Amino acid sequence: MRRGELQSEIASNQQISEGQPEVAASQREVAGEGGDDLAGVPTLEEIDRHPMDDLLRTERLPHIWCPGCGLGTSLSCFTSALMRSGLDLDKVSIVSGIGCTGRVAGYLRLDGFHTTHGRAIPFATGLKLANGDLKVVVFSGDGDLIAIGGNHFIHAARRNMDLTVICVNNFNYGMTGGQMGPTTPTGARTSTSPKGNLEHPFNIPNLAAAAGATYIARWTVLHARRLERSMYKALLKPGFSVVEVISPCPTLYGRFNRRKYGTDMIEYYHQKAVIRHDVRPWEVDIDLGGEITCGEFVDIERPTFQDRLEEKFGPLHPSDDLGLLHRPPVELEAPGEGMLTQTVLPQGASSPTSPEEEPRRLRALVSQAKCLEEKDRPLEILLCGFGGQGIILSGKITGAGAALYDEREVTLTQSYGPESRGGACSTALIISDEPILYPHVTCPCVIVSMSQESYTTYRARLAEGGLLLIDADLVEPDPAADQMVLPIPATRIAEQDLGRRIVANIVMLGALTSLTRVVSEESMRNAILDRVPKGTEELNTKAFQMGYDYGQGLLSEKATA
Ligand code: SF4
Repeated sequence: MRRGELQSEIASNQQISEGQPEVAASQREVAGEGGDDLAGVPTLEEIDRHPMDDLLRTERLPHIWCPGCGLGTSLSCFTSALMRSGLDLDKVSIVSGIGCTGRVAGYLRLDGFHTTHGRAIPFATGLKLANGDLKVVVFSGDGDLIAIGGNHFIHAARRNMDLTVICVNNFNYGMTGGQMGPTTPTGARTSTSPKGNLEHPFNIPNLAAAAGATYIARWTVLHARRLERSMYKALLKPGFSVVEVISPCPTLYGRFNRRKYGTDMIEYYHQKAVIRHDVRPWEVDIDLGGEITCGEFVDIERPTFQDRLEEKFGPLHPSDDLGLLHRPPVELEAPGEGMLTQTVLPQGASSPTSPEEEPRRLRALVSQAKCLEEKDRPLEILLCGFGGQGIILSGKITGAGAALYDEREVTLTQSYGPESRGGACSTALIISDEPILYPHVTCPCVIVSMSQESYTTYRARLAEGGLLLIDADLVEPDPAADQMVLPIPATRIAEQDLGRRIVANIVMLGALTSLTRVVSEESMRNAILDRVPKGTEELNTKAFQMGYDYGQGLLSEKATA
């Protein structure tokens, strides 16, 4: 469906939903005489598209947000407001910074920019100045916009830049571990204020009003209809418009403050939210467990920065002067011809070799991993994927197995982006029988990759003759790459056989152990039991065993018969 058609369909749906007789009639029709006649209502199987599908990058779903998080509601209100605004979607850009909210820019099928921490507003300012025809929306979290990006926020408001800012306030830095943020209420507990926050939080509407914003509203995600309406107004309001969305973060903020489920937070909003449009912005502080004043607090007219610019210099299209914007596209280098692909597919999948040849070929490949045999040299290993997959934990387990149980020398370094949950992350180990003088891994002999992004980022660093283990369902290897790739269905095994996707990393460790022996089997088992959360030992042991057996199955003599 084209965007224009989508917009008119939504508009007509809206008209219907606003016309009471039609609603009543259709409800009667649905209810029927006996109340259970669903004639005319499409079944779930018949509904193959959601009205918002065209606005979402569905290939990126499922999203990374936790159950009970308010970000889904925030996004859904925004998409509805955007569709109803009538704005030309080809001229709408979404800019976000870092954090759980920052992922919004990646999920919307619009021109989107996921910028560095705190820099969404300066990026958006540049975008708007370069092309005044754009509607530029900044969609980010309280930590990103009000702490590290705080100065940008107040100065953009002061200038009255023509930007719409949606600030999702969950009272803490969710993505990076629940640290105290600029809006954490006094007394609230977070991972960095276990005895309670001593500081006074920013009152976002007051900050925005003092700095000069033209439209300011605050709603909780419980007020979905009002929130959507305010987003709609903010989108159409010239100047610096701000909508603050109070949103649950049950996983971190809620857990530390006795509201560990999303519903606990919603119940709190239900009890404590009051709507007051007449209130002054400095009267809407949020105290721990206290009232949350919601409403539209500011709606004023003021010349925008662009108005003043045009008044002085006449109509401007600065992008016309930027030769950079008119560069010819750069041709991508074609992959070299004659490159050999040595991808080994899992049993059952279509293979470049015959099924009989496959295990033999696999053993040959593993044995070709010469660096595994070079016992006199330090062994470098890189485990990579995205935040939330337990990559760092896998590294710690592997390191502990090698150091504490195999009694070898080990170094471990870890790296993850500013968006630890869902962003690329890796952990690198060196295992040696001699003291290790420098912990940096440059040329790993084994890479374990559990996401496409990490595969693309790191695969070129694999040592010659090294092995690449990939998650068979999450990584598509480059057919032109001359590398030994072993696909392991770790996530599939974790989901289908163990019912817990979260143990895919341990399944992968099982396969890594059986295929490479970088750590002995017993040591790896001990290290797993030492490090997994209490109560999950049995599940993790099983996960390790299944991965181990999968690796053994690939290598077994029986398979060659
Ligand atoms: Fe939402 Fe908090 Fe989870 Fe982030 S950590 S996705 S804010 S619940």
